[in-house]
Amino acid sequence: MIVNMSDGATEEQINHIIDRIREAGYQPHVTRGTERTIVAAVGSGRRHEIEALQVAPGVDNVVAIAQPFKLVSKQVKPQRSVVSVGGVPIGGEEVVVIAGPCSVESREQMLSTAHAVKKAGAAMLRGGAYKPRTSPYDFQGLGEEALKILREASDETGLPIVTEVMSTEDVELLCEYADMLQVGARNMQNFALLRKLATIRKPVLLKRGPSATVKEWLLAAEYLLAGGNKDVVLCERGIKTFETETRNTMDLAAVALARDLSHLPVIADPSHGTGKQSLIAAMSRASVAVGADGLIIEVHPCPERALSDGPQSLDFAAFEKVMRGLSDPLRGVAGLVAARA
Ligand code: PEP
Ligand code: MN
Repeated sequence: MIVNMSDGATEEQINHIIDRIREAGYQPHVTRGTERTIVAAVGSGRRHEIEALQVAPGVDNVVAIAQPFKLVSKQVKPQRSVVSVGGVPIGGEEVVVIAGPCSVESREQMLSTAHAVKKAGAAMLRGGAYKPRTSPYDFQGLGEEALKILREASDETGLPIVTEVMSTEDVELLCEYADMLQVGARNMQNFALLRKLATIRKPVLLKRGPSATVKEWLLAAEYLLAGGNKDVVLCERGIKTFETETRNTMDLAAVALARDLSHLPVIADPSHGTGKQSLIAAMSRASVAVGADGLIIEVHPCPERALSDGPQSLDFAAFEKVMRGLSDPLRGVAGLVAARA
């Protein structure tokens, strides 16, 4: 339930509502806008006691939260959230590009990539230390050695890093090295991991599961917010469909929809979304056009030698070209100029 306070509600009136929400068995969550304050009653309690608050002083109205996700919804927080990752704001005016290899393979590979993507305009680095691989025989990542390399790359370039966390056991170690922790697509509904990440003071990049609906994805984000971590960025990375020409089907409507339903920033991953180098430029531009707050793109010094995801990784020159293309305007629309004249 949401208690919308009236424009001139006093602090005392707001505090009274917060107390009453607690008494009714819910957790209160306050969002202070420039004009009005919203107090959400989240959890399960005695609903009629919240409904009755519509006659309390300073209250404009009381409405039900339409969606099963609550703290994530725009109804509870109409203003867009900006998540700061090591000083880089995601969800603000500018599109944030995160770039780097799928896996950290060596110091030389990571450092050369970090410098190249920084020069091309990336604002953050990526690189997997713990890799979720479909086959147990594939390269599984360098673990802590990779984390040290990532830290060095970040210190040298000043770019914050995001890296994937696969297990609750690794959370503390990752927090020592990373600026942001990524929950991979395969772990989107690993509720034990989400609960643990809700308690840390690091931003989380939550990828959409390959078979998850937008509602399930937002409910996974709700675990993080409900547990106390508000710094969550969503990432669309393609879903499973009947199409076999692309690795996944990149669901750009979901980017626009997630931004419609939620105040959280949403970024897009055209690398995993398509699995094809040749499609990264087009899908990057398309993602920005539908409102993505950022992109995460795989870049490798020599994609043909990559230990994971080579076919979808860009070399330095191709990445630079994608970056330059991002600021090109969309095409002119036939008839629009004439219609305006
Ligand atoms: C990755 O970012 O390299 C990765 C494994 O992503 P996803 O979880 O989206 O497959
Ligand atoms: Mn990858």
